[in-house]
Amino acid sequence: MITIDQVRHFKFPKGAEVRPLKPEELVHINKELKRVLSEIYSKGKLTAQYAPSGSEQFADPADRASSEEVNSVVFRLRDREHKMIRKIKGALSRMENGEYGICEECGEYIAPARLLARPVTSYCLTCKTEQEVEEKLRQDS
Ligand SMILES: [Zn+2]
Repeated sequence: MITIDQVRHFKFPKGAEVRPLKPEELVHINKELKRVLSEIYSKGKLTAQYAPSGSEQFADPADRASSEEVNSVVFRLRDREHKMIRKIKGALSRMENGEYGICEECGEYIAPARLLARPVTSYCLTCKTEQEVEEKLRQDS
């Protein structure tokens, strides 16, 4: 349980150097995002090929249960794929608009080290940490 007082004294992790991205870093991240996107698309083709089977074709309840289990795993995977695709497309369009690497919350530059590690992020470390603390507070209350 976190108290408001603890949040006030919360030490944010020391951020890496904060500066605009260098053009070559931007190119590198752009390539990386596109690579991941095409990877998801080719994997997505695999999960798309899997058509959920109706449970009525299984006379045995055990077979039916495992078929439902497979369906739910596939749905979860597709859901994750869709979320990642949305994030990557968002990052790519921010690049096109020249907004990439700028925190959506505070408007400061996001540390390049953070962007290189997590290219889809749109928040600086401080804002992200704040969000996580708030989320934790909500869960605890
Ligand atoms: Zn921020």
